[in-house]
Amino acid sequence: MISAYIGLGSNLDHPERQLLRAMEELDGIPETRLHRASSLYTGAPMGPQDQPDYLNAVAEIRTGLAPLLLLDELQRIEGQHGRIRGRRWGPRTLDLDLLLYGDRVIREQRLTVPHPGIARRAFVLKPLEEIAPGLLAPELGAIKELSAACTDRQVRRIK
Ligand code: ATP
Ligand code: MG
Ligand code: MG
Repeated sequence: MISAYIGLGSNLDHPERQLLRAMEELDGIPETRLHRASSLYTGAPMGPQDQPDYLNAVAEIRTGLAPLLLLDELQRIEGQHGRIRGRRWGPRTLDLDLLLYGDRVIREQRLTVPHPGIARRAFVLKPLEEIAPGLLAPELGAIKELSAACTDRQVRRIK
């Protein structure tokens, strides 16, 4: 089993419910179980500002699925949440990003791992640091150090 980290985000249609349901659905992916879930964090949107604040979290899963099959499952779950792709970084019911997949580095058309946003996004680094304070990410190094150096707008832990 590989340890993988998933970034969850929502700012439409009851974000808290979206994230909690998504955590259960991660646990329901074949050959996969939810290992740890962070608290929920809130913060201003990235990109277009004319949209509601976001709720974000990070989950650690343990999976036997290959990375692209896992991505298929994440996109299937987004679809079940009525995710509609509009403008870049626009509002969404659910975003599930594959942040890290063990120590693998993947550069394929559909999948870049580590996720390229990790190092500059407080809404990823804070929950990631919460559940995996000693984590070292391939190519990026210590999550704790990235988090300390991150100059992104603050996120607030809500529960
Ligand atoms: P960002 O990736 O900057 O957070 P986003 O999450 O809004 O933006 P999406 O619309 O969810 O972007 O995804 C766009 C495409 O990104 C997907 O079709 C997927 O194939 C691709 N992608 C590449 N790497 C990853 C990854 N690590 N996790 C999820 N999707 C990825
Ligand atoms: Mg995203
Ligand atoms: Mg995404």
